[in-house]
Amino acid sequence: MLRCARPVLLLLLALLPLAAQPASMGFHPEYLDTATAPGQDFYQYAVGKWLAATPIPAEFSRYGVDEEMEQRTLGILKDILETAAADRTAAEGSEVRKAGDFYAAGMDLAAIERDGTAPLARDFEGIAAVRDRPGLARAIAALHRRGSAPAFGFGVGQDDKDSSRSIATLSQGGLGLPEREYYLARNRRSRRLRGQYLAFATRMFVLLGETPAMAGAHAATVLAMETRLAGASMDRVARRDPNAVYHRLTRRELAGQAAGMDWDAYFGELGVPEREPLLVREPAFFHELGRMAGTLPLRDWKTYLRWHLILDTAEQLGAAFDQASFHFYGQILEGTPEQQPRWKRMVSATDEAMGEILGRLYVERSFPPEAKARALELVGNLRAALAERIRRLPWLGGPAREQALAKLDAMAVKVGYPDRWRDYSALKVDRRSHVGNVLAARTFAFERDLAKLGRPVDRAEWGVSPVTNNAFYDDSLNEICFPAGILQPPYFDPGADDAANYGNIGATIGHEMTHGFDDEGRHYDARGNLRDWWSPGEAAAFSARAELMVRQFDRYQPLSGLSINGKATLGENIADLGGLKLAFDAFTLSRKARPAAVIGGFTPEQRFFLAYAGSWRTKVREEALREALMTDPHAPAKYRVNGPLSNLPEFHEAFGIKAGEPMWRPVAERPVIW
Ligand SMILES: [Zn+2]
Repeated sequence: MLRCARPVLLLLLALLPLAAQPASMGFHPEYLDTATAPGQDFYQYAVGKWLAATPIPAEFSRYGVDEEMEQRTLGILKDILETAAADRTAAEGSEVRKAGDFYAAGMDLAAIERDGTAPLARDFEGIAAVRDRPGLARAIAALHRRGSAPAFGFGVGQDDKDSSRSIATLSQGGLGLPEREYYLARNRRSRRLRGQYLAFATRMFVLLGETPAMAGAHAATVLAMETRLAGASMDRVARRDPNAVYHRLTRRELAGQAAGMDWDAYFGELGVPEREPLLVREPAFFHELGRMAGTLPLRDWKTYLRWHLILDTAEQLGAAFDQASFHFYGQILEGTPEQQPRWKRMVSATDEAMGEILGRLYVERSFPPEAKARALELVGNLRAALAERIRRLPWLGGPAREQALAKLDAMAVKVGYPDRWRDYSALKVDRRSHVGNVLAARTFAFERDLAKLGRPVDRAEWGVSPVTNNAFYDDSLNEICFPAGILQPPYFDPGADDAANYGNIGATIGHEMTHGFDDEGRHYDARGNLRDWWSPGEAAAFSARAELMVRQFDRYQPLSGLSINGKATLGENIADLGGLKLAFDAFTLSRKARPAAVIGGFTPEQRFFLAYAGSWRTKVREEALREALMTDPHAPAKYRVNGPLSNLPEFHEAFGIKAGEPMWRPVAERPVIW
């Protein structure tokens, strides 16, 4: 499973205005709220003036450092794509032509309005033609191939227990709301939200030409079916146990456990041979799905499939569909008043469709080789710091210590962009239809994954595009990845104060490394295989320490009545604390030869922690915060600063923080893990 450093908005990719000047000190002294003591609330102290002075621009659900960086990237990509779109000499089939055509078709609002849902006619006909249960299974498969995701998720991934092979993987899904809790919670807010979801679905069926009465009935059918799927879904905490979501079945076994769904018809439509093993993440969900597939009237299923087709293409259609979708997912769920300008959304859509074409053009223009070299050097220093910590850990026995060191040693590193670029020659796009292009790109990605079955895993492949402003750890690859998009100021600035780079990107590198040893990652070995390499005593010691972390975060309440879920955010919180320690260690090592210098009245240690806190400078709308608390494995920004720092003696020493202050945690309550 893939984990990342920064929160990712679930349904609408958030992008950004106003680029900030890189701060050579690594933080902004003018943002300090000196009326707040560092020991009181360090986040407020470090960025309080900025928080007070900065409104969230209307097109954002959250706004801060990430959005500022992404704004800069978007400007560069816009220029690249406008140039490509204007270049009428680019050869047919060339990558520049594909990027330019895709972007131009997305900007052609007149053509999009004129076409309406006509480009989806074949897909709707396919659903309408379902006459029996095998036909239903084939229709679901056909939609999966087009990148829509009704009923459940299907993809090809690495086999957790044999990371050298690819395996067809089935996961729970089929919902239009972000998480199962949205369907099941009984409080007033959740009920109201489900009412708004019903209204949204009704509106979409009306836009498809139905009478309001029929549309309302169809929306109710959809909500009832999705509520059943949600009820059979595992919750996000239970899914964190890698062994609980590993069930390798034959097709015959799946057909027995999830009877009612015609699996031969489903896999036949996709061309998956019967001998292929299947990784079924949540068997109980598939059992219920089978019952629904076998017993619910086909007309209900057809309603449900039409809903998911239109839901997954609404943003690519004309204004009425697009705005209805934004009204629900942007305004209601996240509180964002305004939709982003079209060009930003189309830059993001191009990135999603052909990320390595766009990435190559971006890297040629904006990612110098020196940046890659410097980032690799930082990774080396962080790796040395973690090795040193593992050697000293009092609670880890000899054999496990060796295994942990071997895992760290084997951890692969990807920086900037892939060594070998993806081949997009099979992807056909043109200037005629935006939604047609998007579906072509989704089908291309699906077919590309499907072709991996039966072939060895390509460890050099990239799972994210180079312009992504995020960082990742992959359990099955035992790999950390830092795309070019995150390797820019203020996160990473080779010319800045060392304290800034270690407090920013250094802590993120340490965070990703620590994921290899968090509550999920520790179950995987050096080759990325799910295999227990812990003695019962060590596993118990780990769990007891992790439990302190769970309790710490369970107590934080960002919204009245809504706490952080300590178990759901455990992996990220372990990674934040570990990453910060490693970055501080590496920073200290890097300074051995140099005298400590005070800049602007701040010691190097103080600048390190101020840079870290500044890297989380973010404002979030209440609705988006509420959504994040229910779905995001990361804690909100303020707690990613105050949480780990309150556990760190190095931080207490740097700012003279004493027992009894809020930023001080009693030693017995500190989760000392890595
Ligand atoms: Zn993470």
